[in-house]
Amino acid sequence: MQQAGHPHDADPVGPISTPLPEAQPNRVEVAIIGAGFGGLCAAARLDRAGITDLLLLERGASVGGTWRDNTYPGAACDIPSHLYSLSFQLNPDWTRAYSPQPEIQAYLEDFATQAGLRDRILLGQSVRRVELDEARGHWVLHRQGAPPVHARFVITAVGGLKDPKRPDIPGLDSFAGPVIHSARWRSDLPLKGLRVGVIGTGASAIQLVPELAPITRHLTVFQRTPAWVVPRSDRAYGAAEKAAFRHIPGLMQAHRLRLYLRQELRYPLLFKWPDGVGRLLEHLVTLSIRQQVKDPVLAEKLRPSYRMGCKRVLVSNDWYPTLARPDVTVETRTITRIDAGGVILSDGSAQPLDALVLCTGFTVDQPLGDLEVVGLGGHDLKAHWGPRPRAYLGISERGFPNAFMVLGPNTALGHNSVLVMVEAQVNYILQAIGVARALPEDQLLDLKEGETERFIEEVDRRHAGQVWASGCQSWYLGPTGKNFTLWPGSTLDYLRRTRRFDSGRYEARQVGPR
Ligand code: NAP
Repeated sequence: MQQAGHPHDADPVGPISTPLPEAQPNRVEVAIIGAGFGGLCAAARLDRAGITDLLLLERGASVGGTWRDNTYPGAACDIPSHLYSLSFQLNPDWTRAYSPQPEIQAYLEDFATQAGLRDRILLGQSVRRVELDEARGHWVLHRQGAPPVHARFVITAVGGLKDPKRPDIPGLDSFAGPVIHSARWRSDLPLKGLRVGVIGTGASAIQLVPELAPITRHLTVFQRTPAWVVPRSDRAYGAAEKAAFRHIPGLMQAHRLRLYLRQELRYPLLFKWPDGVGRLLEHLVTLSIRQQVKDPVLAEKLRPSYRMGCKRVLVSNDWYPTLARPDVTVETRTITRIDAGGVILSDGSAQPLDALVLCTGFTVDQPLGDLEVVGLGGHDLKAHWGPRPRAYLGISERGFPNAFMVLGPNTALGHNSVLVMVEAQVNYILQAIGVARALPEDQLLDLKEGETERFIEEVDRRHAGQVWASGCQSWYLGPTGKNFTLWPGSTLDYLRRTRRFDSGRYEARQVGPR
């Protein structure tokens, strides 16, 4: 069992309860690492395209990825559900505009079953190393505690937000009470009636804090940087509406398109040209904070001093009212250390606490986490990347032929459903595999020299003038200060560029015994 105080050190996905199948195939055409949205989408699309000899290797005990792992009270998607779902697996039964985590997890479980993938998903499979066997012209996936899997193609779909980040605060381990990370919630720890401290005010905290405040004796929210928070137009879908979605042809698609276009507008208005609508929105949110938070000192603490959109814009209707409660304190003094009894602040004062909740996000500096990928010539992908992970369209990298990434570098979004990107990538990978399959056995499809560099130059150039580079600290930026996580344009732009696989940018690389 994972220790409450060490969510990041222990097994990252908790106990594995699913028994492994007795006879596992160890040679397939396509191996997919990860059975979250990305991996399941890739598997289903490949299967439908007739590429059925595939295997999904998932380190957790069930499918779902981040939606399996984030079970904290209040967890929900901040993109509307009719948009945050796969275009070929629409769901008329979403109960709310922004559905809660259990519903999204159930959607993914159902999808895995309905798509007929269950017999090709291996759970509890921690793939540590993926290595190109040049002599045989295929990839070898080394698993922990199981024989390797050999595959002609490998797709990594490991997700960007998988490894909880434990804050580097001296003394955290000495805290006597429970310490729990939002991404490794433990419902067995009773927080009722306790003095609880929450560190962080990002997308997870904003959903969790309003759920905790009513049950704790006192809640202290340790805020380092306030977030821009806009209202969430959440509501329940009634029975008649759900029936209409189910029975009226085209209605769900039309609803989805409307939601998509509404989200997509946020890109030019907030990120590309933030000085117009962005300034206006900043003004409106400032007024709304003053309206909801009567204490002017607290209202001032909650107003960000950076441009809206520089960090993720959050959506909530109960964040400000919760922080204004008399049994909630927003603490903006820096935490200098933690001892057995609580938190010590920068002015030396102590804040006694019974439990600590870390809403401190995820380690994102390596898009593939601790997975080692070794390509042509024995080159290690992480060493090759250095501090700036990069890939052409976030999908392919030179020297790693027949290998593809879902949600690789520079393909996350701050304004729309990331599943639009996932589906675009899967569509592209499918075409790439089609081209690569037509090659002789001893030739693999590789990106041409210089393609990634040209692409990344363009990405950096486009990022430079946009709001993400306007001066705040965010997880979007890597140690080099370059934005290696977000796509720098609209999703329409990405869809256009991935619609057709551009074989002119790729070449066949000869492999085989030397
Ligand atoms: P996050 O956005 O990275 O927020 C982490 C918070 O912890 C920030 O407020 C950060 O402060 C604070 N923090 C980190 N280290 C700290 C330290 N040493 N001392 C004090 N404060 C510290 O993490 P998250 O809230 O888990 O969200 C991460 C991402 O997950 C989101 O951006 C989003 O993409 C995704 N997410 C999505 C949903 C959804 O509804 N779809 C829900 C939750 C999460 P600073 O801002 O000062 O760094």
